[in-house]
Amino acid sequence: MKYYFLKTVAILFAINLISCSDNEPKENAIEQQKVELIKTAAAITPATINIQPYDGLDEEITNYIFAELNKVYPKVKLLAYNPLPQRAYYKPRNRYKADTILAILNNTTANGEHTVALTNKDISSDNGPGVPDWGIMGLALIKGKPWVASTFRVSKTNVKQQYFKVVIHELGHTQGLKHCPDKTCIMTDAEGKNNTENEKGFCKKCEAVLKAKGFIVDKFIFN
Ligand SMILES: [Zn+2]
Ligand SMILES: [Zn+2]
Repeated sequence: MKYYFLKTVAILFAINLISCSDNEPKENAIEQQKVELIKTAAAITPATINIQPYDGLDEEITNYIFAELNKVYPKVKLLAYNPLPQRAYYKPRNRYKADTILAILNNTTANGEHTVALTNKDISSDNGPGVPDWGIMGLALIKGKPWVASTFRVSKTNVKQQYFKVVIHELGHTQGLKHCPDKTCIMTDAEGKNNTENEKGFCKKCEAVLKAKGFIVDKFIFN
């Protein structure tokens, strides 16, 4: 009797061991899955995009950019109007140095956030030796925190949509995108011209990069 009892205990113990050894990998796998999910969520937790409008820009345009960015991205914050920084002003051409604007905003933008500067004034950037003041529509560094976009060089007949395309082209650079060979892609190199009317949206390749950063890419389509 005692023998049978011990045998039963031994069998139960063995079953228990088996079931334990059977459960453990499952639990580990679930824990591992949880860790992976948390990691993925952290990777696509969207960084705040601040919108910094500068004095002189029509409020209707500022509100349009805010509304359009809000449709494609969940964390957009509209800041109060500010005067353009005086030290960015380049009197001989009545332009503002985009590089200086970016340097200033780089210091005032928290790590992990972005700031887009909106202006109606003409902006310029150095374009190699002999071209210290090249008029541009927008400027950003690859993976940089701030970017700047100006309405000055967009067509007066389709200001808002063309301007939004400039804004999201520079946004693309801050998200790590370089220029794209597809001329209908927002990330195409304008090569000193206004190509926005030919841009229909982001190509699949550029879209994938933005999607991974938390952008609702299906809404970046222009007719
Ligand atoms: Zn570009
Ligand atoms: Zn592209």
